[in-house]
Amino acid sequence: MIDLENIRKTYQSAGRAVHALADVSLSIHEGEVFGIIGRSGAGKSTLIRLLNLLERPSEGRVRVDGEDITAYTDAQLREYRRTVGMIFQHFNLLRSRTVLDNVCFPLRLSGMPRAERLARAREVLDLVGLADHAHKYPGQLSGGQQQRVGIARALASRPRILLCDEATSALDPETTQSILRLLQDINLRLGLTIVLITHSMDVIRAVCDRVAVIERGHIVETGPVLDVFLHPGHDATRALLSESGLDGGEGWRTLAEGVSGRLVKLSFRGEATGRPLLSRLSRDLSLDLSILQGSVGRIKDTPYGQLIVAIEGSDEHLQALAPVLEQAGVHCEVLRS
Ligand code: ADP
Repeated sequence: MIDLENIRKTYQSAGRAVHALADVSLSIHEGEVFGIIGRSGAGKSTLIRLLNLLERPSEGRVRVDGEDITAYTDAQLREYRRTVGMIFQHFNLLRSRTVLDNVCFPLRLSGMPRAERLARAREVLDLVGLADHAHKYPGQLSGGQQQRVGIARALASRPRILLCDEATSALDPETTQSILRLLQDINLRLGLTIVLITHSMDVIRAVCDRVAVIERGHIVETGPVLDVFLHPGHDATRALLSESGLDGGEGWRTLAEGVSGRLVKLSFRGEATGRPLLSRLSRDLSLDLSILQGSVGRIKDTPYGQLIVAIEGSDEHLQALAPVLEQAGVHCEVLRS
């Protein structure tokens, strides 16, 4: 649906060129939740703002449904922007207007008749669970409720794409989860394509189908969230995972010094997560297993687990291990042979 092709973005700052994005190419599919993760200054905001041309690329194309939107006339661009909603870290609500007025505001700008925009606003406020708060002011609402207003406002024009710019970064963990659940619900119910930028792996894990990791203006890794989480291919990804604690950390390294045997990392997902794998290995292959580290969790709706295990046994039994793991749908990475 959205294709970024060889994008470069260079800003001029105090007489110096800042290369915010360098040769970025990316495809986002219709109906998916696509996350872009990176550290501060990596280029995330620049990237997301290219999708509604709040920023123009210095080089390269942004295609949506095959059309190069960088070549659009002003009228075409206005029309296109109506199909793209956006929500922000600090909600960007008009504080002197009621919730209802905030949601109606963009509809009024687009010339929608009053009765229709009121009906539309009530419909989206209902969708985000704020039907009873229509006449309150933003200052009377919690942060999470204010972001719900932001979401309702973004949805009011019935966009096909929703851009989320660090939408949960100003919220506490519990409220973050409720906003992420709402985004997931909207994605499923409305079939909306969602693109979000974040510095938090937890956000990626909770809602995204696919993820791109950006570092210093380059996309260093892209893929389904499960693959990127369980088998990160770049140091930047590994560092982000490690900092978030989602990979279980590095504590196993010290433990590993005190145990003998082969050291492996077992990763499993989906149904394999619930199976009694270790007891089977121990019983059927007469292997001795010591767990040095383990983590289980959920990536969107799929359970996953990772175990770092020291294994001791006869050569014959160790050789039999690989096919058994493969058959069980467990990925095995040898850390020490
Ligand atoms: P992120 O969202 O990942 O923090 P940004 O896209 O905001 O990253 O910034 C990427 C780089 O571009 C940074 O070095 C930042 O300082 C620079 N930058 C962003 N916007 C501007 C601007 N308007 N003028 C000059 N430099 C900018």
